[in-house]
Amino acid sequence: MTMLLLDGGPVAPDSQVTRTGGTPLAPTGTPWPACAACAAPLQFLAQIRLGDLPGHADHAPAGVLALFMCANRPGQCAQWSPTAGGNLALLLPDRGLEPVPAPKGAPRELLGLGAVRAAVPARTAPGAATILGRIGGTPDWLQDDETPSCPTCARPMAFVVELAEGPDPVTAMNFGSGRAYAHTCTPCGRAAFLWQC
Ligand SMILES: [Zn+2]
Ligand SMILES: [Zn+2]
Repeated sequence: MTMLLLDGGPVAPDSQVTRTGGTPLAPTGTPWPACAACAAPLQFLAQIRLGDLPGHADHAPAGVLALFMCANRPGQCAQWSPTAGGNLALLLPDRGLEPVPAPKGAPRELLGLGAVRAAVPARTAPGAATILGRIGGTPDWLQDDETPSCPTCARPMAFVVELAEGPDPVTAMNFGSGRAYAHTCTPCGRAAFLWQC
């Protein structure tokens, strides 16, 4: 089953909830990740609580998916690719997470989005609601099915979330006017991120 992710409005930058923008949370000592193509720090895009997935049982182990992408050289680091290193998806435990210190000297706008928005799962969207994406079920591919294979076990990864760029172009993620898709392989602790337009 797929659910919508609705814009829940502004939320604290270090909030534990599913959100776009703000500060990444990770286990203590996690370094701010860098782009594999240009070596600049990646931009933090979103965190998704896997406990928000439709049908997720309260007692089942959950986690947090943290999504990053290179904003240093738009379009030049294969930011759309699940394997090129111009983006990064981390599957983290859902407890003991702390804000990751920002790398010194990096321009603020390259590290984060211009706004922080809670993303709230909902079955239907009220008339005026802004839809940030969809969670669970199957992806609504804009192009061909690009379900990534797990880099550890080589099985097809499980779809978690689809993200739109966001309602405000000034603060939005850049998917070339398209959509992004995140997948995980929970047994292997792996995650992948890609976008299509
Ligand atoms: Zn880069
Ligand atoms: Zn795997």
